[in-house]
Amino acid sequence: MSNITRLLLIITLTLYCLTGCRSEQIYKRSQLLMGTIADISVVSSDPEHAHAAITKGFREIKRLEDLFSTYKEKSEISRINLAAGKKPVRVSPETLDLLEKSLLISQYTNGAFNIAAGTVLKAWNIPNSPRKDGRLPSEELLNNLRGTMNSSKIIIDTDAKTVFLSDADVSLDPGGIAKGYTVDKVVELLKKEGISAALVAIAGDIKAFGKRPDGKAWTVGIRSPREDGLIKEIELNDQAISTSGDYERYFEKDGKRYHHIIDPATLRPATRSQSVSVISQHGYLSDGLSTGLFIMGHEKAPAVLKGLPGTSALFVDANGILHSF
Ligand code: AMP
Ligand code: MG
Repeated sequence: MSNITRLLLIITLTLYCLTGCRSEQIYKRSQLLMGTIADISVVSSDPEHAHAAITKGFREIKRLEDLFSTYKEKSEISRINLAAGKKPVRVSPETLDLLEKSLLISQYTNGAFNIAAGTVLKAWNIPNSPRKDGRLPSEELLNNLRGTMNSSKIIIDTDAKTVFLSDADVSLDPGGIAKGYTVDKVVELLKKEGISAALVAIAGDIKAFGKRPDGKAWTVGIRSPREDGLIKEIELNDQAISTSGDYERYFEKDGKRYHHIIDPATLRPATRSQSVSVISQHGYLSDGLSTGLFIMGHEKAPAVLKGLPGTSALFVDANGILHSF
């Protein structure tokens, strides 16, 4: 190429760029949704397209929150709980899907993941942030609630599109899977909007696809459950990661920590782990499994993960020791 041609090429490219060519960037916004902070980061060379897609993403989170939240009286999950022991409730395909996936994860985790945790969780009344005091439910109350954490009381009729809780004392709490399920749906929507790379995070439930503008993979840090700082950084290549831990929602009583993940075998906070992160291809799977495996403990994890190709887990056990599978 002659010097003149090279100069002309540079001038042409400069003029083109001055009149509209833009390079790819990350556009990121955060909103308070699902009782926490939701972040959507989108890679695009067009800010308008990026922001329009992010806005639709947040709208999707809000739509699913309105279906699943136990804090909203009119949500479909609340309506199912309210009609427990009385009548089936007609629900949207997403609620049916969420409940079917929850039952699947119960199977994978030998019943440790149990979406019928609502009544027992209410008895524990775990705060949303750490507290130095709290009241334990009595032994007698927990004994009386033994039959309520029973997912065989969830009757799903896929033809009629209804859900019926056949026992008035059973109630659903989708807190262990709803955020992961939602990041799947937001990623689906962003792809439909023509976005080629993004990271969606609802607190510790995260899914990413495509590459960052520098061509590198998205990375996510896993927090140490007892100290400041990270235990590991994980690259996400079209994958989801969820972390379940005992360090965000708990109260203390007589020097002991009581957190929000309930072992169905004891109806008490699970004691085998401090933190579990699961990486898989699906947000719902990472989320549900991290909760279930947290309860089961690292010793039982290899058997569960063996049946689920493409799934891996990082445990910090009850003694603070790291295990990877
Ligand atoms: P995560 O942070 O995803 O592990 O979810 C924890 C949340 O899952 C809790 O706040 C409860 O809403 C719910 N949960 C607690 N125990 C269980 C359980 N055994 N099975 C399913 N969900 C549970
Ligand atoms: Mg979970």
